[in-house]
Amino acid sequence: MSSESALGGKHAVVTGGARGIGLGVASMLADRGARVSIVSRSVRESQHDPRLFRATADVTVEDQVVATFNLCRKENGPIDILVNNSGIAESAPLTRTSLAMWAQILSTNLTGTFLCAREAAADMIAAKWGRIVNIASTAGLGGAPYLAAYCASKHGVVGFTRAIAAEFEGTGITANAVCPGYTETDMMRKAIANISKHTGAGEDDARAHLARSNPLGRIATVEEVADSVLDLIASSRNGDAVIVPGGDVV
Ligand code: NDP
Repeated sequence: MSSESALGGKHAVVTGGARGIGLGVASMLADRGARVSIVSRSVRESQHDPRLFRATADVTVEDQVVATFNLCRKENGPIDILVNNSGIAESAPLTRTSLAMWAQILSTNLTGTFLCAREAAADMIAAKWGRIVNIASTAGLGGAPYLAAYCASKHGVVGFTRAIAAEFEGTGITANAVCPGYTETDMMRKAIANISKHTGAGEDDARAHLARSNPLGRIATVEEVADSVLDLIASSRNGDAVIVPGGDVV
């Protein structure tokens, strides 16, 4: 998608758009002419970008999602594009994964994705056009040690995406997933600190370990992930899961 006004007039909601991958996606959408609303529990880091309408919600709380999406509609009109990006990650061996940790990760990554998609889909069905892009993970396609809850949640996101893609087939609405490997954000920096703490490895070694576990053997950039999201929005592909870096589709 090269034209700066390619998304002119479209309203895009990006959850978790205040920092990291979400902020990268929100900025790129605004660069392409979309009206962008970002939704997260705190929106402080986006305050320098006046193009982004900031709304506060915890995506795990149904009432907050409904009220906040209404606020976004009031500001920017019916929702054409939804990027479900809000997410959390925590690692622990299975035997030390508490029910509270499991529930929080499933609730944020999977139930939050469902609640936001359900809320935005009504507008898309009325318009007979819409784009839903869910940020999953390579952990949504394969297993990884100490990440049972996170992997389960992201496999759920990929399955949910494929289910709604099948439901919307032929309606003008598409749903796809982007599956990044480790990407340069706060979440990845927390993972590096965690590995160092538990193994005694230096930060450079921990970073190299994460890079080796990624497709292409390197850390992804926020821009690469955002590019992949924008490519899916521009296309009519439906039900794909795209790996970043690399671009393989599964
Ligand atoms: P960050 O931790 O930098 O950002 C996460 C965003 O999610 C924040 O804006 C946060 O805002 C928001 N968020 C978290 N919980 C909630 C909630 N309950 N309600 C609303 N918003 C919430 O992470 P990344 O940018 O790295 O991650 C973005 C997505 O990409 C996530 O889904 C993550 O799983 C996925 N991903 C990341 C990878 C990486 O290596 N970085 C690799 C693969 C996938 P706030 O706390 O203010 O609510």
